Amino acid sequence: MKVVVVVGGVGGARFLLGVKAALGLPPVGEGDSPHRVTALVNTGDDVWMHGLRICPDLDTCMYTLGGGVDPKRGWGHAEETWTVKSELEAYGAEPTWFSLGDKDIATHLIRTRMLRAGYPLSAVTEALCDRWRPGVELLPMTDDRVETHVVVDDPDEAGQQKALHFQEWWVRYRAKLPAHTIVPVGAEEATPAPGVVKAIEEADVVLLAPSNPVVSIGTVLSVPGVREALRRTQASVVGVSPIIGGKPVRGMADACLSAIGVETSAEAVGVHYGSRQTSEDGLLDGWLVHQGESADVPGVAVRAVPLLMTDVDATAAMVRAALDLAGVDSE
Ligand code: GDP
Ligand code: CA
Repeated sequence: MKVVVVVGGVGGARFLLGVKAALGLPPVGEGDSPHRVTALVNTGDDVWMHGLRICPDLDTCMYTLGGGVDPKRGWGHAEETWTVKSELEAYGAEPTWFSLGDKDIATHLIRTRMLRAGYPLSAVTEALCDRWRPGVELLPMTDDRVETHVVVDDPDEAGQQKALHFQEWWVRYRAKLPAHTIVPVGAEEATPAPGVVKAIEEADVVLLAPSNPVVSIGTVLSVPGVREALRRTQASVVGVSPIIGGKPVRGMADACLSAIGVETSAEAVGVHYGSRQTSEDGLLDGWLVHQGESADVPGVAVRAVPLLMTDVDATAAMVRAALDLAGVDSE
């Protein structure tokens, strides 16, 4: 079976662990399996810092699936050290609000060197995955530069608006500055990375992870050609709500949803994604909401199951429910 999963960072990576478990793939490494999983990963969070190209969502997926992620933070290396960060601070080198671990920096050094030598991000990612063996094909949504920017009231200049890189808004300001708009800059001219459209077209099932609907899933969908491929694939498309009880399970997705005028509820996010059958640009055949909740999403089959990714078994059960709703069998 060919499974395509659209993902962001921490939420997406945890969901992918469940996909692997549900399909019986080994937790780390490749192993023999009749199943193939391709993750289409958001790159709108990518950023240049201190001369290094950083791809937070790709790295979170790679470290998590490769067994090297810090389990508490959910991103970055386990047993990380922070010597370079404190040395940079001692020089007063901005920005100081972004945490770069020493081990993590090695990844960024290799990536930056390869990009500068002319390799596309997809090839760089493949090279980095030679070490981490995530057991899932990690495809950046695009090899082109797309960066999510957030327009806010300038915190330093009354009456002015200012566009911040998503990372600055999210990490430095904790999404506390109300967003007027959120724009994936460069998306309009971007093309999907090699293999992205083909993976969707040839998939047996497509899953939308419970990742941030705006700045993770929404950004992948903003690359021209991705939404169209999702609409025409023979595979069923099933999404999983990141919103439980009217709140994001982790993080500040509510601040992103209000910026695009979508209520923070599982129903509103399902309606926002829309029906492949009955709406003009909708994506979903099925939508999973948390146990005990309900949602009316016209043209979409909605099912309620436990959606908390407390451990891999719970996540695998959630993935099996998604596959079942899609009408495919994971056995
Ligand atoms: P990021 O790129 O690291 O911010 O991560 P993602 O965009 O992939 O995922 C963030 C989303 O995951 C948040 O909006 C959370 O609500 C959602 N999330 C985190 N943990 C869980 C969980 O256990 N269950 C569900 N349903 N959603 C979750
Ligand atoms: Ca992210």
